[in-house]
Amino acid sequence: MKRIYCNKCGHEIKFINGIAHEDYVFVSKEWGYFSQKDGKTQEFVLCEGCVEKLEREFAIPAVWKDTTEML
Ligand SMILES: [Zn+2]
Repeated sequence: MKRIYCNKCGHEIKFINGIAHEDYVFVSKEWGYFSQKDGKTQEFVLCEGCVEKLEREFAIPAVWKDTTEML
């Protein structure tokens, strides 16, 4: 089974029977013409702790919204 690691700190995201038992961020970015990376897709994973650390460095706070679950 494929293992998933946080690209920033190397922490392994915990999976049990193929189901993630901790949440994480997956970024997949297709860089476009006005970048230095045109034609490239960049992908990485960040664990919850690294997202919290990153957010503390933001000059402008992230936007938070309540998530409504579809039942
Ligand atoms: Zn991490």
